[in-house]
Amino acid sequence: MLLKIGNKEITCKIEYKKIRHAYLRITPDYHLDIILPDSRRVNAETLLKEKQNWLRRRVRELENSINLFEGNTVYYKGRKYEVQEIKAKNPRIELSEYFIKIYKFGKRKTENILREFLADETLEYVSKKAEEFSERLNLFPKLVSVKNLKSFGHCTRDKKIFFNSKLICLPIRLVDYVVCHELVHLRHFNHSKEFKLELAKILPNYKEFERELKRYYW
Ligand SMILES: [Zn+2]
Repeated sequence: MLLKIGNKEITCKIEYKKIRHAYLRITPDYHLDIILPDSRRVNAETLLKEKQNWLRRRVRELENSINLFEGNTVYYKGRKYEVQEIKAKNPRIELSEYFIKIYKFGKRKTENILREFLADETLEYVSKKAEEFSERLNLFPKLVSVKNLKSFGHCTRDKKIFFNSKLICLPIRLVDYVVCHELVHLRHFNHSKEFKLELAKILPNYKEFERELKRYYW
């Protein structure tokens, strides 16, 4: 199914799930999931009509969105770098003002070298930040690690926290927000009012960060 919003053509798919309230989800590659309760009380057409303004706004936002990890460019702590491959006997990575220089030899793929670099950098940063927030929140995870996730972060019922292994691509204020968000889930395993109040204690302007995060994808 195709839908036209503004000048954008959007593919959509309808799914029925065991839920009470219907919702929409749009991905950065302009695909819309229409998720409806399997009671079939709501139909897609009605929902789309109701959510018209939201949908237009999300499409406009997506048009301003930023891909953090593209073939020749990569973001690191919110700054854009061009990827440069350089043959060298001593493999290493150097950041200059505009370039991320990958010195390598042999057949190892630059993309894999970059992924590993970002994962290492992410783990180092989020571990330190999590410790700092843990003290302030008096919340201590059993494990802080990085993973190849779709989302920015993920908290499990047994108090382990995983972060997207490319999280360090984001501006640091947003990395901090994600760390704080996941830690607060150790106390509130949902996005309830209490969860938001707790989050606001550490990051009073967290709503701004949430809005900003929507611009970024990998
Ligand atoms: Zn959450």
